[in-house]
Amino acid sequence: MKIVFLGTGAAVPAKNRSPTSIAIKFNGETFLFDCGEGTQRQMIYTDVSPMKIDNIFITHLHGDHILGIPGLLQSMGFNGRRDHINIYGPPETEGIINGMLNMGYHSINFQVNVYEIPIEKPYCILESESYKIYSYPMEHSVPTLGYVFKEKKKPQLDIKRAIELGINVGPDLKKLKEGYSVVSKDGRKIHPEDVLLPPKRGISIGYSGDTLPLKDFGKFLKSLDCNILIHEATFDSSKKENAFETMHSTIEDAVNIGTIGGVEELILTHISARYDDSMEVYLNEVINLSREKNLNITIAEDLMEFPLKKGK
Ligand SMILES: [Zn+2]
Ligand SMILES: [Zn+2]
Repeated sequence: MKIVFLGTGAAVPAKNRSPTSIAIKFNGETFLFDCGEGTQRQMIYTDVSPMKIDNIFITHLHGDHILGIPGLLQSMGFNGRRDHINIYGPPETEGIINGMLNMGYHSINFQVNVYEIPIEKPYCILESESYKIYSYPMEHSVPTLGYVFKEKKKPQLDIKRAIELGINVGPDLKKLKEGYSVVSKDGRKIHPEDVLLPPKRGISIGYSGDTLPLKDFGKFLKSLDCNILIHEATFDSSKKENAFETMHSTIEDAVNIGTIGGVEELILTHISARYDDSMEVYLNEVINLSREKNLNITIAEDLMEFPLKKGK
């Protein structure tokens, strides 16, 4: 289980950074967040397989977040994909994807389902037994969504307590775990809350997309007990005005949102091509803020892998 940074640049490809794309590999599934130009080529250098991607989440419809989609879909078709794929994004995503599907001659013989997510409020947009994915409205020059991937953990069984209460070990324990009451050996009714301990803390990853800093997004992360935040930090803080004008965030902005969110790990991405020749100013600010705020801050690099610890 890990996060793979396929592209960590902003706006246009740079010498050292491809446009934005992030893959989360979790329990055999791969989730792709944004798909900038060249994303499929970046995958070749990693163990992210395009055929294992069933869900793509688009933050917004700027080219540096979507121009990799047509090539990726066409390659999936070329390689004989038959399984459908789901693409989630803000309003107008469907028209854009349909346009991509009409580009040139290709052999896409699988279903592409597009889900346009309203941007008025947060939604849980996808749920399985082991995870939930939420959208959150952000503030950028075009409609933009942030996302939160949250692992679902089941409550743990207090076996010692169950034995003390005289529960038949076996099917009854399973029933209690599933939320049903059972009858003990001496005829007492035992309820799940009598023997279940709170679930372990799961993995929860927030991703901002392109945005001005939003304190409410930080509060949302806090409410979901987020431990990792991937936040855009296009500029260092001396370029505050550029950030504000282009509706992006600085390093300090991202740190503030991470602090409000109470995360343990902050990963900065969507880094301007202006730092291609020298990261010195950027890096110094990160080191200083990391010390000052006592926060683990990582500057994402293309092809960087960030391991996800189970039960973190
Ligand atoms: Zn961007
Ligand atoms: Zn943008």
